[in-house]
Amino acid sequence: MTTHLDPADGTRAHDLDRAHVFHSWSAQGALNPMVIAGASGSEVWDFEGTRYLDFSSQLVNVNIGHTHPKVVAAIQEQAAILPTIAPPHANLARGEAAKRILDKAGPGFEKVFFTNGGADANENAIRMARQFTGRDKILSHYRSYHGNTGAAVVATGDWRRIPNEFARGHVHFFGPFAYRSEFWSESPEQETERALHHLTRVIQAEGPGSIAAILLEGIPGTAGVLVPPPGYLTGVRELADEHGILLILDEVMSGFGRTGDWFAWQNQTVNPDGVVPDLITFAKGVNSGYVPAGGVIISPAIAHSFDEKVFPGGLTYSGHPLAMASIVATIDAMEEEGVLDNAARVGRDLLGPGLAALAAKHPMIGEVRGLGVFWALDLVTDPATRAPVPASVIGALKAELLARGLLPFAADNRIHVVPPCVVTDDEVARALAIYDEAFTAVPA
Ligand code: PLP
Repeated sequence: MTTHLDPADGTRAHDLDRAHVFHSWSAQGALNPMVIAGASGSEVWDFEGTRYLDFSSQLVNVNIGHTHPKVVAAIQEQAAILPTIAPPHANLARGEAAKRILDKAGPGFEKVFFTNGGADANENAIRMARQFTGRDKILSHYRSYHGNTGAAVVATGDWRRIPNEFARGHVHFFGPFAYRSEFWSESPEQETERALHHLTRVIQAEGPGSIAAILLEGIPGTAGVLVPPPGYLTGVRELADEHGILLILDEVMSGFGRTGDWFAWQNQTVNPDGVVPDLITFAKGVNSGYVPAGGVIISPAIAHSFDEKVFPGGLTYSGHPLAMASIVATIDAMEEEGVLDNAARVGRDLLGPGLAALAAKHPMIGEVRGLGVFWALDLVTDPATRAPVPASVIGALKAELLARGLLPFAADNRIHVVPPCVVTDDEVARALAIYDEAFTAVPA
């Protein structure tokens, strides 16, 4: 509902923020945050009543759309019954949430450890892998983001790791990325083969007996929606098995509907051989962030290794009832309303062809990558050299998109097209027209 909007509240929200709120990953001085007053489905609006199509899903987490009535009601009901309880107690919402998540993960998983978000999910998965194997090292991609806590941020590959490099035992390697290949590959098959050769050499050079786990995003998201080429995940699993290394898949961004599947690793394109990880981390889409939550989905072998041995980790809010109730309601509503099918169909029939048509028209769009409601436009100054566009172009595009009523997601030289999984055909058509106008307005 957009009733009772008072522009004075917008001014106050902005002023209070600038005076007192310290923001993530930012120099604080020049910030000018957009004030959001309310949201519903795939739209957000400000205190002036201006509406925006949310093609960011915020931080790619609002998979079920904003203010879903069933999820809101479940949180309200739980708040009236038991709004908080310490983790040692059992509570119904937590058990129901764990059961539903395990049903979606399928055979090969037995327990869930709940956390407050994605970073601490990875933190605890890393801890479990180290405890289980008795080894230290964690291998992860340079093109990755795994969260901002001690080990998760050092497992991260992007620039955010560098000022935070205080955890030990982390090694990085290059994953496949055919459009900007590190391996001079000329085909996806070659990219897979050479990326796996590189990983083999890194494992040999690091000493296989010192490596606890390989940690990968199901589909690297913030790094550019890098759908792995055929055979890559299978090859990584084989290498891990050969050396007694665990495979942790970080499905924080790629999970719970983004690809049209519950997890990206269950997607035919991503993982045609159906290899199964040992640990899965999740957050974001599991409850669309209505209450902070994340967790680790654990294989029986790892879960039972802590039957006698103490697991040395815990959180006051592990399995917080409001978060758990919102997970139960989210998963049930996604199922009842065919939300995953919508995401898959929108990707296949609308966004895939629509974005390809935009690329054919605008040479600045060097590559369109993705599936479901998880896409990236890789923007270049020249399609031949693939030189990334400068930040000024991204800034101009963001301004043109916002001016036309679309809230975009931008990272480096890319615009990510990541609407909620519930996005309608009409909203996709409107968004495609807005992207077209913005690319027409901004020269490369
Ligand atoms: N892992 C991935 C793949 C992510 O995309 C993110 C956040 O963007 C995280 C982990 C960290 O999640 P959180 O911000 O909830 O700690």
